[in-house]
Amino acid sequence: SVQVHGGSGFVKDYACERIYRDARITSIYEGTTQLQVVAAIRHVTTGTYLNQIRAYENENIAEAYLPLKDELVKLTDIYAAAVEKVTSAKDSEYLDFMARRLVEMAGNIIMSYLLILDASRNEEFDASARVYNNIAKAEVAKHAEFINNFTPSEVNVYKKA
Ligand SMILES: Cc1cc2nc3c(=O)[nH]c(=O)nc-3n(C[C@H](O)[C@H](O)[C@H](O)COP(=O)(O)OP(=O)(O)OC[C@H]3O[C@@H](n4cnc5c(N)ncnc54)[C@H](O)[C@@H]3O)c2cc1C
Repeated sequence: SVQVHGGSGFVKDYACERIYRDARITSIYEGTTQLQVVAAIRHVTTGTYLNQIRAYENENIAEAYLPLKDELVKLTDIYAAAVEKVTSAKDSEYLDFMARRLVEMAGNIIMSYLLILDASRNEEFDASARVYNNIAKAEVAKHAEFINNFTPSEVNVYKKA
């Protein structure tokens, strides 16, 4: 919206600027995003998210969305491999460093399944399900690329940066 308003979107004379500032608080109050990751990572390491994702595979998905589901099954394998890589190192600092990426990978897959299930029940969700599936694929690939090309000792480089 700020972009659509151009320079007027940025200056305080218009409501758009205030709304833009207010939007920033959503990742701070009711638990900052960092603290949400601190709470959520245990569900990555215990396998709760993976079990939930595998349970979605057996839900009643309409035929039109089976190709999207097939994509999600592949993303789930990528997610599971990333979890295995990070947790098998048994290095809590490395796990903390990768926690947000792992939580977001699980979140992207789960949200994509939920939209496919919604679309299976109500066609009004069709576009959202298809658009979000593309986002999920790109996001999971991005995080997997980072995790797969990273060695635990590299965390030290980030401490100095
Ligand atoms: C406009 C507004 C309305 C609010 N309304 C309410 C309300 O109605 N009820 C209510 O109870 N509270 C309310 N709050 C408080 C809000 O919940 C807190 O501001 C929020 O939870 C963050 O806590 P904090 O400000 O103490 O920041 P801190 O906890 O001091 O966090 C500072 C930074 O450190 C990071 N951090 C802290 N601990 C860790 C950790 N273990 N690992 C990684 N990073 C960490 C945080 O992510 C953050 O980036 C409101 C705040 C604002 C600004």
